[in-house]
Amino acid sequence: MKAVAVFPACREVQLVDHPEPDIQSPTQLKARILDVGVCGTDREITSFQYGTPPEGSDYLIIGHESLAQVTDVGDRVTKAKPGDLVVLTVRRPCPHASCIACRSGRQDFCYTGDYTERGIKQRHGFMTEFVVEEDGYANVVPSELRDIAVLVEPLTIAEKSMEQLRFVQERLPWDGEEHRQALVLGAGPVGLLGAMALRIAGYQVTVYSRSPKHEEQNDIVSAIGARYIAAETQSVDEMSRAVGTIDIVYEAIGASGVAFDVIKHLGPNGVFIFTGVPGRKGPIEVDTDDIMRDVVLNNQVILGSVNAPPHSFQAAIRDLGTFVHKWPDAVRALITGRFPIDQATTTLSQGAAGIKNVIAVSA
Ligand SMILES: [Zn+2]
Ligand SMILES: [Zn+2]
Repeated sequence: MKAVAVFPACREVQLVDHPEPDIQSPTQLKARILDVGVCGTDREITSFQYGTPPEGSDYLIIGHESLAQVTDVGDRVTKAKPGDLVVLTVRRPCPHASCIACRSGRQDFCYTGDYTERGIKQRHGFMTEFVVEEDGYANVVPSELRDIAVLVEPLTIAEKSMEQLRFVQERLPWDGEEHRQALVLGAGPVGLLGAMALRIAGYQVTVYSRSPKHEEQNDIVSAIGARYIAAETQSVDEMSRAVGTIDIVYEAIGASGVAFDVIKHLGPNGVFIFTGVPGRKGPIEVDTDDIMRDVVLNNQVILGSVNAPPHSFQAAIRDLGTFVHKWPDAVRALITGRFPIDQATTTLSQGAAGIKNVIAVSA
């Protein structure tokens, strides 16, 4: 079967012929891949910044944002049946008995770092025609979401973050509608899906982004009742004055310079959530005294979050249904391109045109 693979040793990305997998145990299912989303992680892997093939393979099949249709199930599969649409989780547990996180099914909190990830770290990914997986890693999606369910995985970033945010803010001995001013950094798919999740959680949302041609992003942001501020024309100081007290920052740019500029504008009892992984660039100057002083005197929390447990996938499936009901055009506008698998290597090398590009492996 066809698969898109990266060969880190010889620095090549190729469409390869990979053996089709078969069900090996009664708890596994086999699924035909329909859609695979392309994101910054895939571009970094295919420019050889990271990405590790499985042991014994000289290539890694990429792709971690999936939508598939079940074709076969083992005798003990209970979660899905043939014909069901499924989105598969990405991270798999480390082998160590001492890792309480992985042993509890929470490999998103793995202590050892020896977890594996499909399409990223030591496990083949989903940019291929068929996959076989344990049914515990499959999440059934209603068929109405067929055209957009490839957005479930990137939405799990926001879902896990929102859950962590709720846990953190339980420290405040009141609840209410005050102090719900959120700032989203970045207008890529992660930022825009985060903005949608914050809106349905009752936040006022401003999206601050440097996106050269941002009409599409601006339209989506307005449609969901949020505000777009262009970083090209407004400095962080000007943006902060326009927003007022910032209670939550949801970072989705992966650029540390802007992020640390914005931390200085986080309000009292505020939470700054990092979700991006910056590429290694040169050192930058940061006002550490000011930041440390504000963090202490304002009870601030700086929180990192990596996705995601199965219940965040369930939450993403549910919320995607809510989004498409409230903002059908805005949600569909997130997917700006669909390409056949034969064009995947060109799509990957062309860089990030549009918002979310999808490899439509089969119809
Ligand atoms: Zn991704
Ligand atoms: Zn672990």
